[in-house]
Amino acid sequence: MIKPDAYLAGNSGAIIKMIEEAGFRIVAAKLTKLSGERAGQFYAVHSARPFYNDLCTYMSSGPIVAMILEKDNAVADFRKLIGATNPANAEPGTIRKLFAKSIEANAIHGSDSDENATIEGAFFFSGFEQF
Ligand code: ATP
Ligand code: MG
Repeated sequence: MIKPDAYLAGNSGAIIKMIEEAGFRIVAAKLTKLSGERAGQFYAVHSARPFYNDLCTYMSSGPIVAMILEKDNAVADFRKLIGATNPANAEPGTIRKLFAKSIEANAIHGSDSDENATIEGAFFFSGFEQF
């Protein structure tokens, strides 16, 4: 998911280019906007964290681009492409190093397991057609 800060800064195209050049195939894509409530559902796993309310406000502050991506070893390779949560700690050349503004407004989300990728895909797309 391309997060609101990156979308609003006009970086969606550059980020999608990096994703495709890294060998990921986009199998579903959608520009949408999360309500605070939907953002809260998406990040429910973090509901006890001190940053949760701010995170929900930020995630509903602008449009996002949701995508289902396909690649061998996709979860691990995508986390490597996006870099550390805090851009200050992200490797050079990663999406977060290039585009994130802060530990919160960090440009992009990646699923952390195959299981969560399936759950998060279903959160945004129902019965999508694979071309
Ligand atoms: P994501 O799940 O978005 O891919 P991540 O897996 O790298 O990010 P998580 O620990 O799952 O990191 O945190 C989810 C999101 O919550 C982060 O991407 C960031 O937007 C926000 N976040 C995480 N830690 C903090 C923090 N200490 N302060 C503010 N926001 C934070
Ligand atoms: Mg996470």
